[in-house]
Amino acid sequence: MLCSTIFRKILRINCRSYIVTTTHTMAPTNPSKGKKLKLVSRRLDDILSVHDGIVKSDSDKREYRGLQLNNGLKIMLISDPKTDKSAASMDVNVGSLSDPKELEGLAHFCEHMLFLGTEKYPDEDEYSKFLSQHAGNSNAYTSDDHTNYYFDVGHKHLKEILDRFSQFFICPLFDASCTDREMNAVHSEHEKNVMSDGWRLQRLDKATANPNHPYSQFGTGNKETLDSEPKKKDICVRDELLKFHDSMYSANIMALAVLGRESLDELTDMVTPMFSSIKNKQLTVETYT
Ligand SMILES: [Zn+2]
Repeated sequence: MLCSTIFRKILRINCRSYIVTTTHTMAPTNPSKGKKLKLVSRRLDDILSVHDGIVKSDSDKREYRGLQLNNGLKIMLISDPKTDKSAASMDVNVGSLSDPKELEGLAHFCEHMLFLGTEKYPDEDEYSKFLSQHAGNSNAYTSDDHTNYYFDVGHKHLKEILDRFSQFFICPLFDASCTDREMNAVHSEHEKNVMSDGWRLQRLDKATANPNHPYSQFGTGNKETLDSEPKKKDICVRDELLKFHDSMYSANIMALAVLGRESLDELTDMVTPMFSSIKNKQLTVETYT
């Protein structure tokens, strides 16, 4: 069910920069079935519930709509006819706390690999090339129990980039040819963090935590945890990556936000068919005490 906290995030591993976090409040009653919408989509059957009348500030001129698709995916649509940039963010309610003990950093590595080609758009640079040609940017981060992917783009190009973005969650390739390079990228990220006071304090916090609790693990990962140590134990990291993605990513624990110039009905019509084929594996979100 959509709730007031679905877009509240705690940042842990942000791969390029830091972002501002936001919280939206949903009207708690009367979710309506798709029949009330004036849509051209032939995929209305993919919509489980629609949540209009979202509480917002009087000074906020944007229009909001919550959706839940039949695959369990929660969506927040934001219509702003004056925005220069369109944008989207997908949150997956799984993060570094779910790393296997013998593969610290696997959730973070999965985040890096997800961008690099899909069955529909196999070129590993397709997404970043499209964004750079259309005034766009992208980033992602892995926190303890969330992984988040997001981009912005010139407002005329939302549909094209959103289709590329949706494929990350439907048919990622995790191409073996990208494995070594992305492992190096993860390693470099860790090397950069070593000199940061914030990261050092976090490491100290983890080092003094209960060693049997996953919080004590090393969430960023490096070449030691993702390459040399697994090799010694005959663990194939790519196989484990595929297993991790297959068992941990599911539409029912994901939440998407999309901002565009289009009306709420047009956004509904655009987004629903793109994201309705993400598999729902009926996962339960892990809780940690
Ligand atoms: Zn990273």
